[in-house]
Amino acid sequence: MNINDGHCHFLSNRFFEALGHEKVKGTRPVSGSDVATELAMEAPGPAESLADRWIAELDRNHVSRAALIGSIPGDEESVAAAVRRHPARFVGFFALNAAAPDAADRATRAFGELSLRCVCLFPAMHRYGLDDDRTAKVFEIAAAHGGAVFAHCGFLSIEMRSRFGLKAAWDLRRGDPLALATVAAAFPQVPVIVPHFGGGFFREALMAAEACPNILFDTSSSNSWIRFVPGLTLVEVFRSALTVAGPQRLIFGTDSSYFPRGWRKTICGAQRTILDEIGVEPEVARCIFSGNFDRIFQPAS
Ligand SMILES: [Zn+2]
Repeated sequence: MNINDGHCHFLSNRFFEALGHEKVKGTRPVSGSDVATELAMEAPGPAESLADRWIAELDRNHVSRAALIGSIPGDEESVAAAVRRHPARFVGFFALNAAAPDAADRATRAFGELSLRCVCLFPAMHRYGLDDDRTAKVFEIAAAHGGAVFAHCGFLSIEMRSRFGLKAAWDLRRGDPLALATVAAAFPQVPVIVPHFGGGFFREALMAAEACPNILFDTSSSNSWIRFVPGLTLVEVFRSALTVAGPQRLIFGTDSSYFPRGWRKTICGAQRTILDEIGVEPEVARCIFSGNFDRIFQPAS
């Protein structure tokens, strides 16, 4: 079966440098490769080499296309370089702090000049409302460029940050899918991806999807948030999501991020098993594992 991965992080040298800078607070120079080594991860090297590393990994696992997420604001260039190198295989996503003064300029350049396709919002991390004017402005820019919005809702944990000893002073209340629904409803032409089924706000995510046909879920990660809902299993999560949002609005993803771990094959295997257990038709599995991604992010012709 053809597989597209809707959720991979492109952890560039700049990403690791930013972690290092945050830790030493500008008291001394830091090198991205030193930070990666300290985290027991492969140093990414230049964006082009990391892009090639990902292509080899996708080929090895028979993955056709992947979303690559530039995972800190200001790292749009790295992802753009990867996409330029392998335009048929990568779709560029970029993290944006919608509350930053340069947010509109950055988003305009990323969607325009850099040809990235999806802006990623982390409202809990950057402390703004999904239902405020700053978010609406980002949607307006996405709409003007035919782009998509990815909005992280629910519980947020970033493994490398905690492993690197960085504090996470986040406001998890900001990641409410119902706040997202207000802006998603105002921009019905913009595809809105909620990763990890809403990351713990599952009920709210389902309600948001019911209210807004442009909201999709990505299935990525181990979805360990299900431990916050007593008795919930990932099988039931898929079943409910298929009932409420339907097969056209689930996008398979792994949340792969670093090497040497590479592409998270076990996530794919576990989700295939779940869909077999539910007994979905092959066409439904095809939508989830590749078709929906190709529909939202049509391959460059
Ligand atoms: Zn992720």
